[in-house]
Amino acid sequence: METIGVLDLQGDVLEHLDHLERLGISGVRVKEPADFSRLVGLIIPGGESTCLFRLLNIFGIKEVIDREFQRGLKLWGTCAGAILLAKNIVGESPCLGLIDIEIQRNAFGSQLDSFTCEALIPHVAQQPVPLTFIRAPKIVRVGEGVDVLLRQDDYIAAAESSDILVTVFHPELTPCLSFHRYFALKCGLKPHDDVVPSLIDPTWDSRSWTKHSQIAQV
Ligand code: GLN
Repeated sequence: METIGVLDLQGDVLEHLDHLERLGISGVRVKEPADFSRLVGLIIPGGESTCLFRLLNIFGIKEVIDREFQRGLKLWGTCAGAILLAKNIVGESPCLGLIDIEIQRNAFGSQLDSFTCEALIPHVAQQPVPLTFIRAPKIVRVGEGVDVLLRQDDYIAAAESSDILVTVFHPELTPCLSFHRYFALKCGLKPHDDVVPSLIDPTWDSRSWTKHSQIAQV
């Protein structure tokens, strides 16, 4: 079966797997090079990008992502994952450097400046999508071949090339499945319309989502 992998180096993995499962998409943890067989897509979750950068090298995963990407693997980086995929990081050297965007780390301030909001992203969903920003970066520029999916104030929050999706927020930490559905389609898969309930938090639903609520320190 065709599968989407979730890079399992630092955490935030179960939430992505849960969203995929609810859409009827096969998901698997990816920890070492052997785990890449049969993958059509890879989600690189958030976390701390400097730490993830080191772990990618220690586990010998960086070259494998690069090689599999050249073979057609689709990639989605959320937050720190987007930082790892960027060709330019303000003031730092790039890691994977696979998508022509420039990104600025911790651009909203400290962890306490994390926040949630909602936005309409017509390419991705017909309804407003809840967004969770946790010590997020800002995409400050996109290059040729990269389309902006969501621009807010002075920054870009979501963008894509033909093979890579980047979001500076965390769709896996909301009840909304729109971005996981969008990525599954990008990978050539067919997500279900009749989604199964979350195994992680069955109380999640769109009505319980509070707009502009402050996120507790994590
Ligand atoms: N602040 C983190 C970094 O720069 C990213 C945070 C996240 O992934 N939520 O690596």
